[in-house]
Amino acid sequence: MNPITKIEHLGIAVKDIEKANRLYEQLLGVAPYKQEEVESEAVITSFFKVGESKIELLASTSDEGPIGKFIAKKGEGIHHIAFDVDDIEKELDRLEKEGFQVINKVPKKGADNKLVAFLHPKSTNGVLIELCQEIN
Ligand code: ZN
Repeated sequence: MNPITKIEHLGIAVKDIEKANRLYEQLLGVAPYKQEEVESEAVITSFFKVGESKIELLASTSDEGPIGKFIAKKGEGIHHIAFDVDDIEKELDRLEKEGFQVINKVPKKGADNKLVAFLHPKSTNGVLIELCQEIN
């Protein structure tokens, strides 16, 4: 079985979550099904369903948070790609052995009821990669 099962979502860094919610609602023709603050990451997130995958909008609640820093450096835009995995610890172990730079050796609780961990963009052609596993 393929250890990575699908693209779970694309994360997009935005300055204003309310404006971006309206824009993506117009674009996708559906309202966000969830808005959630993740205090540990200083972000507010909104999720839209797009078939099997999702769009995650991320707005920073602090200039010092990771999304605040990202927008200061690169502006708004695609922030990460998230892959769905069945066993996040096993995948992190596999990817680290393959030479990828794992940012979170221990998965943490992310938005939308997921365990998440990131791979450093230096080891993935400049793209921040998130692995996520649904918490049962
Ligand atoms: Zn994400």
